[in-house]
Amino acid sequence: MRIAFSTSLVLMFALIGITASQLSKPVDDTRLTGADTDSSNWLMYGRTYDDHRFSPLEQINEQTIAQLGLVWSRELNTTRGLQATPLVENGVLYTTGSWSVVYALDAKTGNVRWTYDPEVPRTRAYFICCDVVNRGVALYRGKVYVGTLDGRLIAIDAQSGKPVWSVATTNPALPYAVTGYPRIAKDMVIIGNAGAEYGVRGYVSAYNADTGKMVWRTYTVPGDPSRGFESKAMEQAAKTWSGEWWKAGGGGTVWEGIVYDPSLDLLYFGTGNATAWYRDLRGKGPQDNLYVSSILAVRASNGELAWHFQTVPGDNWDFDSTQPLLQADLTIAGRPRKVIMQASKNGFFYVLDRQTGEFISGTPFVSGITWAKGLDPKTGRPIESPTAYDGLKPVIVSPGPGGAHNWNPIAFNPETGLVYLAAKNGTQALHAPDAQWKYNQKDGNIGGDAKYEGPLLKQLLSMPAPKGELIAWDPVRQRAAWRAPYPVVEGGGVLATAANLVFQGRADGILAAYRATDGKQVWQFDAGTGIMAPPITYSVDGTQYVSVMAGWGGPSATFNAPNEGQKKPGYGRILTFAVGGKATLTPRTFARTGPPTPAITMTASPEVIHDGQILYTAYCAQCHGLNAVAGPLPVLR
Ligand code: CA
Repeated sequence: MRIAFSTSLVLMFALIGITASQLSKPVDDTRLTGADTDSSNWLMYGRTYDDHRFSPLEQINEQTIAQLGLVWSRELNTTRGLQATPLVENGVLYTTGSWSVVYALDAKTGNVRWTYDPEVPRTRAYFICCDVVNRGVALYRGKVYVGTLDGRLIAIDAQSGKPVWSVATTNPALPYAVTGYPRIAKDMVIIGNAGAEYGVRGYVSAYNADTGKMVWRTYTVPGDPSRGFESKAMEQAAKTWSGEWWKAGGGGTVWEGIVYDPSLDLLYFGTGNATAWYRDLRGKGPQDNLYVSSILAVRASNGELAWHFQTVPGDNWDFDSTQPLLQADLTIAGRPRKVIMQASKNGFFYVLDRQTGEFISGTPFVSGITWAKGLDPKTGRPIESPTAYDGLKPVIVSPGPGGAHNWNPIAFNPETGLVYLAAKNGTQALHAPDAQWKYNQKDGNIGGDAKYEGPLLKQLLSMPAPKGELIAWDPVRQRAAWRAPYPVVEGGGVLATAANLVFQGRADGILAAYRATDGKQVWQFDAGTGIMAPPITYSVDGTQYVSVMAGWGGPSATFNAPNEGQKKPGYGRILTFAVGGKATLTPRTFARTGPPTPAITMTASPEVIHDGQILYTAYCAQCHGLNAVAGPLPVLR
C-alpha cells in the first residue's frame, strides 16, 4: 500500500513535470539562517543574513572567465531604472522591475513562469522622488513578498504567482512609497517606506508572514507631542526637535535596507533626511533631530529601540544614512568585535559595534569631503565644517545629495577581509535654502530655492566633474586596499565570489569583473544600457550563472548632468552569463526626444501642465516619454 502510494506520487510528479529537486523543503528559518552553505541558491537580498553578497561558487574563476558569455537575456519592456537583486531558489529566479512588477523566470533559460503586476496607479510617480524602482522580493514558506510604490505589502504564491494577501503599509492619502525589499525575520515580514522629500513620518512595520496581520510598528521621528508619544524613545527624540516639525511629517524614512542578526535578534536600518532638508527651515533651537540620518537597532520581537547612532546630527545636506548595512565579526585592535558597517552617503565609512551601537571607527573613503572636518574619535559625532552651513545662505558642499555612495549594494569577501563598493569622489551640491519655504502638501518639501541664480551657481558649474571608482576597503585598517577608477561617475552594486572575483556594472552599460585581491579587471561585457543593480550568482544542474538587471534610471539619471553623455539609457533587461555562453545581445535602441535634463533638479516636478493634466516624468528625463503618464493631479491628505 505504502509502495503503491509513493509510486503513484512519483508518476504524478513526472506527469506534471516536477523534478525531484523541486520537492526540496520550502525556504524557512533554517534555510535562511543556513543560506551561506546553500551555494546553489540566492535566498535573500544580500544572499545571507550578514549581507556579504559573497558566493562560495568557483566554476567562474580567473582561468575560466575568458569564456564567460551570455546565456540568456530577457527584456522587461521598460526604459526606467532597474535596481533589484534577483533571488534564486531551486532553478527559479524571482525579481522585480519598474512599477513593482514581479517576475518569476526559469533561472536556466529565462523563460517566464509567471508575472505579477500589482497595477500601481501611474499618478503615484508624482510623489516618488527617484524613479519607479523596486529593489527586490523576499522568499519565505512558499510565498514571494513585494512592497509596492503605493505602499502595499503583497504576499504572492511562489508556484502560481497569484496574490495570497495584501496589506496597506502606508496611508495612501500621504506621499509615501515603498521601493525597498522586504526582510524576513522569524515569522515576520519587515518593511520600511520612503517620502521624506515630500513630507512624511518615517517608520518600519512588521507583519505576520502567513496572515499579513501587523505585529508592530516603530516610528523613527516623533509625532505631534499633543497626541502623546508611542515610546520613551520618541519622547527622548522630541527633545531634539524645535518648531512644529510634525506638520511636515518629520522625515527619517527607512527607504532602503533592513538587516537582521538572528543570533542577537536585532534588526538594523538607516534613516533618511528630515523634512525640510534645511536645518533652519525646521525651526530654531535644538536641532539634532533624532532619529533622522541615523543607524538604528530594534528588537525583532517587538520593534523596541535597542540603540541608535546618528551619523549626521541636524542634517542640512540630504545625508540619508540608509545605505546598505553589512555585518561581520572582525578582530579590531586585538579584540573580536561583532560589527555593522556602512559606506555612508556622507563619505565616511563607519564601523560600529552591532551589539551596543558603540562607535569603533569612521574614515572618509572618498576625497574632497567638505561638510565635516572629521569625526570625534570617541563618539563618531561629525566635526562640522564652518563652510558647510551658513543659516539660510547658500553653500556648496561635497558630497552632494547623490552621495559618495548610495543604495547600491556592497559586498564583503571574508577571505580578503575587504569590502567592495561603488564610490564617487568630488560630487558637489549647491544648497540654496528657500527662506520663504512653507510646507505644501501638494508638492515636494525639500525647501530649496529652485530659482537661485547667484554667484555660487557659476562657481558650481566651473568645478571639476566627479570621478567614480570601485573601492576595496579594509574595514579594520580603515583604508583602501585598492581603487579601480572607471570612465563614468556612477557604478552599480557589487558581487564577490570565493574565486577571487568581484563583479560590478556601471552607467555606461559595462559589466566588469575584477580580481578581488588587486583590482585588475579580468573581463567585461557591454549590456547595452546602464547598470545600477548588483549582479548575483547561483547554480542550476552543475552550471554556475551570473545574473544582473540592466536598466538606467533613478536619481543618478539626473544627478551629475555634466556627465550625461557617459550614461546609457535603454530598454531594461535581465542578463545571465555562464562559462561557454554564446548568446548574442541585440539591444533595442531609441533616439532621445524632448528637452535635455536640467542641470540641477531635485524634485519630481511635473514636466507639462495642461488643462489641469500633468505629464509625470519624475526623474525620468531619460525615459523619452515612454513611461510618462498623463492624469489628474493626485489629491493627497
Ligand atoms: Ca533623501
